[in-house]
Amino acid sequence: MPLRSIADLPSPDVRDAVAANPVAVIPLGSIEQHGPHLPCGTDTFAAELVAKALAERIDALYVPFGPYGVTPIHAGHPGTINLRRSTFEALLTDICHELADHGIHTVLLVNWHEGNNASMNAVATELQDQRDLTFVAVQACYTAQRLYEPEGGELTHGGGIETLAVMAHDPELVRTERVGAPTRPADAHEMDAMRRSHEIYGFVTDVTALADDGWYGEPSWASADRAETFADDVAAATLERVQMILDLQTRRRASRPTTGEPRHE
Ligand SMILES: [Zn+2]
Repeated sequence: MPLRSIADLPSPDVRDAVAANPVAVIPLGSIEQHGPHLPCGTDTFAAELVAKALAERIDALYVPFGPYGVTPIHAGHPGTINLRRSTFEALLTDICHELADHGIHTVLLVNWHEGNNASMNAVATELQDQRDLTFVAVQACYTAQRLYEPEGGELTHGGGIETLAVMAHDPELVRTERVGAPTRPADAHEMDAMRRSHEIYGFVTDVTALADDGWYGEPSWASADRAETFADDVAAATLERVQMILDLQTRRRASRPTTGEPRHE
């Protein structure tokens, strides 16, 4: 299916698209420093590539969010634009209310930035409770990590997988000649493990606790070959789980009383 983006379609075509398949895909990324070799839009480019590929595969409406995210960890570094959580949540809430009014009943949030997690989860759980909307979170960066780890790809800030995403978007934006040799503080690995544990974890509020120059990893892992199919490969790797959740929610939707009215309206 060709991409159907709400920004590209005339109004009657949006109406028809929603009537044919009331599913929307929203990409979530961030504008933030990614070292001297990757553009500040890295996370947004990655989210948009995967979200578009996924929207095409499931014939859903693609709904741009805008490039910005919640990224206090990179605040103060040139090129970082940090949204307050309240701003991000208000924007996402307004977009989803509008989509619900249009007849959308399922929203896939395709995210490539951990800093957005708390806000996107809060909006999804609140609106799913308030409106006749089902949300699915697609953490595309973790899918890419699962996909590429066996081949030596690492999900780090500015490393191999993120370099691959930018290559897929526009290879001219990758400046590997600037990479040099990034250094990390002595306890950087422990800091990373501390914040990424699911059980007991602490917090990192400045990226320099993880990397002296604000990035780390192996950009040279990325290759033009892998970049060519990056978006399709990552989107395909999300499909089975996405479909499982969509089917589960469809059964749940079908089994509930047919008043058709959202609970809180
Ligand atoms: Zn990133």
